[in-house]
Amino acid sequence: MPSLSFLGTGSGIPSSERYFPCTLVHLDRLRLLVDAGEPCVHLLRERGAIIQEIDAILITHGHVDHIGGVPAFLQGAMLYGRTKPLSIHLPQEMISPLRAWISALYLPESGLGFSINWMPWDPASPLLWEGVTVTPQANGHLELCYRGLLDADSSKACQSYSLAIEQGDFRLVFSGDLANSSELSPLLSKPATVLVCELSHITPEELAGELAKADLKTLCLVHLSEDLVGDREDLQSKMEEILPAIQDVMIPEDGSVIDF
Ligand SMILES: [Zn+2]
Repeated sequence: MPSLSFLGTGSGIPSSERYFPCTLVHLDRLRLLVDAGEPCVHLLRERGAIIQEIDAILITHGHVDHIGGVPAFLQGAMLYGRTKPLSIHLPQEMISPLRAWISALYLPESGLGFSINWMPWDPASPLLWEGVTVTPQANGHLELCYRGLLDADSSKACQSYSLAIEQGDFRLVFSGDLANSSELSPLLSKPATVLVCELSHITPEELAGELAKADLKTLCLVHLSEDLVGDREDLQSKMEEILPAIQDVMIPEDGSVIDF
């Protein structure tokens, strides 16, 4: 039975109540970690042997709240005696800097006790393991957030992705962080079991407009902006009212587990 464990549901703003984005996806024999915001390794430790069992880490983009927990995860896996190879899927431009960071933290990859397969996202080549397909879809989130910054490097790559994860009839879409709500449209052109959608960079109204015609069973709202997080019940009831065709609208908290 597929399940989602929401380890961190917060936005990019530090909070003692909501950690940075990290979701554990269970699909039959596969264990996938979607984003690895801090303090993911601490939260995974509470789930028994899962640090040794995770098959792959899927990083939607290189903002620190989505990728910052990777070095501590690797150190934790080493200290727990992990031997199982680990795949890390991420934007191409993050691979060399992340490997250099890990090396600078006195974690030589050859000494971890397990191999790491560094795999750049390629929207033209969906991943396929154990009957599960993961398809990345590029979005404009990083372009939008980064290019306007003072002293931004105009030559810097800005790859960011949404993800569709499919196994049989179960279809799970992670929005990642978005530039605008219309980026969801191609992801929802097929029926989806669940959409895990951020609400820091798009508004509830924009999302509702995009979902009006979607064939979607469950909507999980995460990464809520500071102005939305204060009144979650109001947000939930508003979305339920606007989107009556969706069976379940949920606002998971850190630690929430949803079985499908
Ligand atoms: Zn971001």
